[in-house]
Amino acid sequence: MESLEQLLRKAEAAHGHLCAGQILGVRMALLGLKRLEIEDPHGADRKRLVTYVEIDRCATDAIGLVTGCRLGKRALKFRDWGKMAATFVDLAASPAPARAVRIVAREDSRELARRLYPQIESASRQQMQAYRELTDAELFSEQWVRVAIDPGDFPGARGGRFLCSQCGEGVSFGRFCEVDGQRLCLSCARPELRYWELEDGCR
Ligand SMILES: [Zn+2]
Ligand SMILES: [Zn+2]
Repeated sequence: MESLEQLLRKAEAAHGHLCAGQILGVRMALLGLKRLEIEDPHGADRKRLVTYVEIDRCATDAIGLVTGCRLGKRALKFRDWGKMAATFVDLAASPAPARAVRIVAREDSRELARRLYPQIESASRQQMQAYRELTDAELFSEQWVRVAIDPGDFPGARGGRFLCSQCGEGVSFGRFCEVDGQRLCLSCARPELRYWELEDGCR
């Protein structure tokens, strides 16, 4: 595994800047890999890991970078819970449900950073310094969990494709609802969940 500093340089390049969130994310991912005894996430172990992230902030980019888990590979799963937490799932360790470690950034780590570096004025600089040095136990709490991943949600799963009988758009991975005997995409079946609405005058 690469060193913290090497990974931080890569995270900085990928994310656009180095920030406390990058450091926390790199440390969190390194801890997850260590707990699962995954040493080569980009090579030999690349099919072993699925990661669930619970927030879409800076740390999330770093977690993707270190683990190699990406949305486009279906190995990064996003749950929009607003928590600085991630669950690292080892697909190889056991029969389903898979063994996993869920790691949460401790709420008091900012306060710890402030106490460690009172001479540094900016809170984010305090954190960037402290998050390099604090122990895993000072930064994170962790718990062993089991994660039942739906067979259709595995990275390599092949899902059938169909056309929605209402909008005609193609849909993969079985993401449909059966309504009155018709297969509808989720947007047509449950328009209240749409994140968009048509502009006036469009149809
Ligand atoms: Zn950032
Ligand atoms: Zn549709």
